[in-house]
Order: sequence, then structure tokens, then C-alpha cells
Amino acid sequence: MSRISIILVCILFTSVVFAQGKMVAITIDDLPFVKIGSMTNRVLIGRTVNLLTALEKQHAPATGFVNLSKAYIDGNLDSTRFNLLRLWLIKGFDLGNHTFSHPDYNRVSYSQFVNDIEKNEPLLNKILKENKKILVYFRYPYLHRGNSKAKADSLAAYLKSKNYIEAPVTIDNAEWIFAAAYDSVLKTHDEALAAATGEQYINYMELKLRYYEGQSEKLFGRNIRQILLIHANSLNSDYMDELLAMIVRNGYSFVNLVTALEDKAYQTADHYYKNGGISWLDRWAITQGKSRDFFAGEPVCPENIMKLAKVDSE
Ligand SMILES: [Zn+2]
Repeated sequence: MSRISIILVCILFTSVVFAQGKMVAITIDDLPFVKIGSMTNRVLIGRTVNLLTALEKQHAPATGFVNLSKAYIDGNLDSTRFNLLRLWLIKGFDLGNHTFSHPDYNRVSYSQFVNDIEKNEPLLNKILKENKKILVYFRYPYLHRGNSKAKADSLAAYLKSKNYIEAPVTIDNAEWIFAAAYDSVLKTHDEALAAATGEQYINYMELKLRYYEGQSEKLFGRNIRQILLIHANSLNSDYMDELLAMIVRNGYSFVNLVTALEDKAYQTADHYYKNGGISWLDRWAITQGKSRDFFAGEPVCPENIMKLAKVDSE
């Protein structure tokens, strides 16, 4: 092959790599559903189907993170709630471990936390096996990896020993506050306010997406394969279509966690041991000693949403 041909092949290869464009993996926490006790089975099934239908329509291979305690009523496993998890798998989505009862690793001991991870495993393994899948991913509740080096290292070593892959988050956000606001609006049957809240949610998420894109550019000189965190809640059940369409409008295609994690950015060191549950982009930036200015311009949750959600501070 001549030198010119080699150069042409290199140019072609480079353009193919860049033509892959922006990628994001969608991860959805707190399955089967947030505030599960407040809705009838009929509503719960309807909301889950809405959520999954929107994901299917946009070919977004989401991974759901399960807290099996939410599938229990008065200590008994509820078959409707449990079968919702099967629905995720039947429709081709993946499920990961988010602990049984969502404990905060900053507040409980290592052994209490590990017991809670393991309590989630038997039934999760069972339904994954039914769908010829295995349990691979683990997501930290509140994104708390451990608020001391020793605590973080011991849990990371445990997860590694069990062949878990930690599921990081790059696009962290206040979607959960919007969801609480939306739930409180739904109770009032004020349809106009519900629609306005939904619209404000999409606008906020777009700002957040662009903010973390910028942070990625600043930290890595490129937009890494992003991982978005949202929850299985009524807000996303009603607005998943709009949310995914907004992401596509911003030039993204949807990938699964395996593909997202192939990005070398995820090998970046994280030595953040404070109490906050924050984006991995923030963790890496803090680890690299970035100053306060580096984090400037992060979109905040609007006051009216905080008020509706009855949250004092983000
Ligand atoms: Zn959670």
C-alpha cells in the first residue's frame, strides 16, 4: 500500500470514528417504581408500560436498577410488582442491582451495606436467568461510593470480587425533585400545571445535558460516552418520549452500558471521598484538583419546582 493510500485509509478511519457521534446510555433507578405504595396495580402497570414503550420506540437500550424491597407489601413479595421487573427483561432491557432497600453507604456499615446488596441477589438472579442474562451491574444508592478512602476501597474490592461492574453516572441531575413536584401537581388534577412542569423538566434536562457535555469537553477535550441517571417515576412515564426526543435533537444516539463503558474515560481515577452523590465528571474533576471556576454554570433546579416538591435546598 502506498504512503498516500495509507494516509487516505487513516483519514477514512478517523472520520468513521468521529461519525459515530454523541452517545448516551440511559439508566433508570429505583425499580419497580418510585412511590410504588401510592398507586393501584392498574396505574402502576400502565405507567411502567408507558415508560418502556417510549424507550422501545426510540430504540434506547436502558438498564434498570432494582430495589426489590419495593416489590414487597407487608413482608410478602407482591406478584404484580415483581412481574413488572420481568416485563423490563421480556422487552429486552437489562436489570442491575441497586441494593434491596436503598441504604445510604455514608450512614451504614460496610457489612450492613453488603448484606443489603446480597439480599437483592436471589430473585434478581432468578429473573435474569429466565431471560438468559446474568447480573452484571451495580449502582450505588444516592451515588454514594463511600465517604472515606477505606470505605470506598473496601466496597469497590467487594464488588470486583463478585464480578459486579459499577455503573457510573455522568449526567447527574435534579430529575428526582421534578418528579416529586410532578407527583404533587398530579394530586391536584391541575392539568395545565402538570404540563408546564413537564415542559420545564425537559428544558432543564436539556440544559443539564449541554452542561455536562461542556464539562466533558473541558476535562477530556471531547464529549465522552455519557451515562444519564433518571428514575422509574410518573414524570418519566409521561415525559420519556419528550426526554428521549430532546436527547436525539442534541445529536445523541442511545447505547447500552457495555458500549458506554468501553470509553476509556471511565478508567479515570476517582479519589472523591466526601458525602455528596455527584456526577463522575465532577468526581474526576475534583480528583484532578480543578478549581471552583471549572464547575461554573451548572443549571440549578428552579425555585418553583423546589416549592412544588417541598424541597428546601438541592
Ligand atoms: Zn436510587
